[in-house]
Amino acid sequence: MMFKHKDTLIEIKQGFNEIGGNFIIIKNKDNNVVFDQGIRFSRFKKFYNATIQPSSVTEMKKLKIIPPSDEYSKIFISHLHLDHLGVLHSLNLGTTLYVPDTEVFEKFIGPYKESNNWTAYISPPIGVKVVDVKGNNDNVTPLSVEHSAYPAYALYYDSGDTRILYSGDLRISSPLRLLDPQLHERLHHKTILEEYDEKGLDTDVLLLEGTNFSSASSPIQPHYFLEQIDNIFDSHENSLIIVSVDPIDLEGLATLLLKTKIRNRIPIFLGRRIIEMASFWNSKFQIVDKAYQIVDKAYQFRSEPIEFDIIDKEEVVKSPKDYVIFTAKGNLINLGRDLGDASKGSVIISTSTESKNETGEDESVEDNWYRMLGFITYRLRLSGHYYPYELKRILDTVKPKEVIPIHTEATDVMCDYVNKLGYKCANTA
Ligand SMILES: [Zn+2]
Repeated sequence: MMFKHKDTLIEIKQGFNEIGGNFIIIKNKDNNVVFDQGIRFSRFKKFYNATIQPSSVTEMKKLKIIPPSDEYSKIFISHLHLDHLGVLHSLNLGTTLYVPDTEVFEKFIGPYKESNNWTAYISPPIGVKVVDVKGNNDNVTPLSVEHSAYPAYALYYDSGDTRILYSGDLRISSPLRLLDPQLHERLHHKTILEEYDEKGLDTDVLLLEGTNFSSASSPIQPHYFLEQIDNIFDSHENSLIIVSVDPIDLEGLATLLLKTKIRNRIPIFLGRRIIEMASFWNSKFQIVDKAYQIVDKAYQFRSEPIEFDIIDKEEVVKSPKDYVIFTAKGNLINLGRDLGDASKGSVIISTSTESKNETGEDESVEDNWYRMLGFITYRLRLSGHYYPYELKRILDTVKPKEVIPIHTEATDVMCDYVNKLGYKCANTA
């Protein structure tokens, strides 16, 4: 999909009429910039499964699972979800990669470097210049947005005669905003709509994600999410509660840690990735046992990198009502196997934020295990994206001259709605 505004050409090479794998090129006579270079999981799943794995970056490119981003030298990443960050291994030496936060990026990319499958290609080769998007990047200004990966940015491009806003993925309401506005403000000094309100930025073209338009199931709204968590803590007050949360989703993690504290339970981190990320977030934002603490105390089990105080499984089995175990999805089955009979009647709160095409997940095997192990499961999909009913507020704040829907399978539906709200939609597919 191509779109021209004055001297600037917008090419949406991936991410138009599909969810996942955004790849957008903005060209004018002095400059080419790329916004995101994500993996298309919808195509990934067509060619690969547990036994058939990618053999090379070249192969993934040939199958159009990843874009030919090696043809460009300036790449901006809106946030660290793989359908936006993509596979960095094929980037040319000398490429400048603008990331949301170099420290978070390094922490996030670390485990992939040691991986012995295709995910090793996610990390960039030496020679790619990784820089913070908040630095001085001539035409592009990052604007902080709320999303299920922290931090996340929309990208505002201004060539002098053309102003483009690329939304990345964003939500404009979240449980953390409701539960602890102060903490929310510590994480986001200003979010995109506030910036627009204050600065009155002009926008010729808005490239806006529409993930939640006509999605297969509607995600739960923030205040219901909080209510559901309360219901679960109330009615399972004697049970062990286990929460699965994506460690890069700092807002989600912080919300659930706050709830844990309010319920006088102590969090236990289980699994290398969440221990390392929780410890990292702690060093940046003091979430445990510091001046602005969210929780007073946190534990972990032995045999992982040691970042928190150690607790034994026997203690947890003896007094399950005192703890909440925080872990990543992949660890739940092993935890259940480990707990033996103690897993029966334990509660799993499985939070997810993205639709299946963004992550490529299938949960049916997990579900069979949960039943077999006796877990009571609550699967709560809280969205990382704005809800369709919030589109009006976004458009009335940004006031774009034209809107191009991306990151949605319901392009026409979204366009019709944009028109109904009194804005122009550029759906020229
Ligand atoms: Zn995302």
